[in-house]
This record gives sequence, structure tokens and C-alpha cells, in this order.
Amino acid sequence: MTSFSLRRVKLRPGEQFRDEVELQLPTFDFGGQRYIPVPETIPAAFEITRANTGTVFRLSFTARLHGPCYRCLGDAVLEVPIEAREYQASSPDDEQLATPYLVGDGIDLSQWGRDAVALALPDKILCRPDCAGLCGTCGKNLNDEPHTHDDARPDPRWAALEALRERG
Ligand SMILES: [Zn+2]
Ligand SMILES: [Zn+2]
Repeated sequence: MTSFSLRRVKLRPGEQFRDEVELQLPTFDFGGQRYIPVPETIPAAFEITRANTGTVFRLSFTARLHGPCYRCLGDAVLEVPIEAREYQASSPDDEQLATPYLVGDGIDLSQWGRDAVALALPDKILCRPDCAGLCGTCGKNLNDEPHTHDDARPDPRWAALEALRERG
């Protein structure tokens, strides 16, 4: 878990702090499949800006996930650019003004990063935008072997041949 201790940063209103942090990402379960971050630990830019009434936190990084394509089950690599922002009021009187990632004196960057990636995932993870998927009739990968089936029913001529073979 990557947690950033806020005790080492003392800011006055208008002041800003920036740092590069090493962010560890978990494996994502998405649509019943597993997507693995490669690499697992990535550099992220973390920024704290002190305002008059609270503090703004920013986290930006690009996650890269490896896993199966939704359509053809081939390898898919997905780049997920993240620009996340959280706000913590100095004296929050409702939950809208408090970030859930502030735990004690630290901010839980792993959990925040993971949630941000989960929110940014597309509806379907594909190996390429125009992936043709698997053939509904024979199950072959249509990217490797583009084809169509004119008729899903067995050809009567073949059926006749089968019958002959069985008899013989
Ligand atoms: Zn695919
Ligand atoms: Zn087919």
C-alpha cells in the first residue's frame, strides 16, 4: 500500500507541494476477467495545494493493464490515463467536503489510484477498437481468419454423402 504522510508537508494558504510517488496498483477484476497492471508499481505525480478553506489533492499517472479481450479473448493492453482530484475542507461539515482517502495523518494513494482506474475503465476492454471477435458458428478468431458462413445448416449434398458412407 502506498500512503503519503501529510505530517512532512506544512503549507500555508496559496502554497503548493509536488512530489513523485511510487504507486502500487492491484489486479483488477472486470467483467469476470482479471487485468494485471504492468508494471505493478508506477510513478505518479502527487500535488497538494492549500486553499483558504481546505486542501486540494491531485494524483496523475498512466496505468497499463494486461488481460483478455472482451470479444476474442486474445491479449489486450489498455492504457488508462488518470487525472484525479480530491478536496478536503479544513472543517468539513458534510461528507461532500471530505476525501475518503484521508486516513489519520496520511492519504491512501493506493486506494485512491485503484478507485480512479476502476472508474476510468471502458465498458469493454478490447485488443483493438475494431476487433472482429470470435465466429458465432465455428468459434474461430475472426481477426486471424476472416470468414462468413453462408448457411448455418449442413449442406444436403454432404448429408447424402454421409449417408452413403455409413451404408458402405
Ligand atoms: Zn479482440
Ligand atoms: Zn466460422
